[in-house]
Amino acid sequence: METTGQQFIAGKRRSGTSGEQYEVINPATGEVLATDTLAGPEDVHEAVAAARAAFAEWSRTTPAERSEAMLRWADQLHARSEELAQTESRNAGKPIRLTRGFDVPGTIDNVRFFAGAARNLEGRASAEYSADHTSTIRREPIGVIGSIAPWNYPLQMAAWKALPAMAAGNTVVLKPSELTPLTSVLFAETAREAGIPDGVLNIVTGSGPVAGQALITHPDVAMVSFTGSTAVGRQVAAQAAGSVKRVHLELGGKAPFLVFDDADLEAAARGAVAGALINSGQDCTAATRAYVQRPLYKTFVERVAALMDGVRLGPVDDPDTDMGSLISLRQRDRVAAMVEAAREGGATVVRGGRVPDGPLGRTAHYEPTLITDAAQDSAIVQQEVFGPVLVCLPFDTDDEAIHLANDTPYGLAASAWTTNVFRAGRASREIQAGCVWINDHIPIISEMPHGGYKASGFGKDMSAYSFDEYTNVKHVMTEITGTRHKSWHDVIFTSR
Ligand code: NDP
Repeated sequence: METTGQQFIAGKRRSGTSGEQYEVINPATGEVLATDTLAGPEDVHEAVAAARAAFAEWSRTTPAERSEAMLRWADQLHARSEELAQTESRNAGKPIRLTRGFDVPGTIDNVRFFAGAARNLEGRASAEYSADHTSTIRREPIGVIGSIAPWNYPLQMAAWKALPAMAAGNTVVLKPSELTPLTSVLFAETAREAGIPDGVLNIVTGSGPVAGQALITHPDVAMVSFTGSTAVGRQVAAQAAGSVKRVHLELGGKAPFLVFDDADLEAAARGAVAGALINSGQDCTAATRAYVQRPLYKTFVERVAALMDGVRLGPVDDPDTDMGSLISLRQRDRVAAMVEAAREGGATVVRGGRVPDGPLGRTAHYEPTLITDAAQDSAIVQQEVFGPVLVCLPFDTDDEAIHLANDTPYGLAASAWTTNVFRAGRASREIQAGCVWINDHIPIISEMPHGGYKASGFGKDMSAYSFDEYTNVKHVMTEITGTRHKSWHDVIFTSR
């Protein structure tokens, strides 16, 4: 069990000072991984002060200096990748295969991408838009960024929040979920080992209502970048408005998965199972609503059910385990209650819909679940479940498919499965979501943006587009003729 603190402030690891003790739990076993004291407002204040002090130096480093520091950081993370994979697996209940193959390499790739992107921050070409002036654009860092992250991909979310901000010359105070702080602290520790100055990246592990609130409302925090649920995102935006802070919101999702009658059924069925069950379904882009054109519907449901039967639940440190636990018993019970409500509302639970038997049933595991016959307006179709639950419903026409895909408050991600280029084109254009995959669902890449439409939020993570969130664009206009009496002065000095 770890005894070291879960705060990383001004380059030092320590405990919080709120007086509130807490335990970091492995949700797949119930084991206590660490005990600590949560961050309180004083810790947040200290972290913001450290970030503010570091901003003066970090914001003036050249892009090349930031880039080189981040490349060293990537090497450091790579050197500690097995430790990161083990820690992430235990803290979030993820199979070790997932953290070794996805969370950790994805994070390292993200660091390397932003090391490169730091040297490519661009404005429009300068020019004389007025004959007597040269206009140039400066892209400037904003200041101290207050970032708030969820528990589903703790390491990757820390990276998505911190990297574009730091690459652009900002400094960061990140609040991870109190359930999953361990890899965020390691992430910051490796930044320091790579020579990134103290105070550039700080971690405050505390509860949302205490540490999160203190961060959002802190007068020296220039921007709030939040990833989490839509309900909390609304509160964050409302509170940040009080001090006119810039806000970036990456919120919930309810991704549709459209299977047209010309699709490769086997590819779609495999895609649906993998897309619905990755990270035990605790993925904001997870495939949650499969709409299948009627000629394929019955076979698709049978094939998905058969594939789900083959998904192995087990100890997260076993490389053969396919699916781990949910993040907590609370989350498991929440998922179970939503499935129960769907069943009571007339839906059919084709597979799963229960806590597994045996030892896994005593921790936060839940069986892969396939639901049919749910009403489009029911909670299981409309609301985020954030668990290993796929709802499958039929459709008849292409118009209906597009309508159903857009028929929730969310708009984060979607996929369309078809071999018809016109259908693919229409789905890409008409589905209201920040990402539409054609014939796949889930892959993410550092080079491309991730972010929502509608109640899924606004602003982009990853890619060069994320710099639009983390920079101010300044217009500098330089008079180039040296004329004392400028022509536009006639509005004041006409007769003189
Ligand atoms: P929450 O919204 O409950 O929490 C997210 C973060 O906000 C946590 O760090 C939490 O702290 C903090 N928080 C909670 N209440 C407040 C508050 N009043 N003020 C400030 N901060 C607060 O989400 P979950 O952690 O449950 O994560 C799951 C959600 O995240 C899902 O809805 C999912 O879709 C979304 N998500 C979105 C992604 C995207 O890119 N769009 C990516 C990943 C997840 P604490 O829990 O420690 O109290």
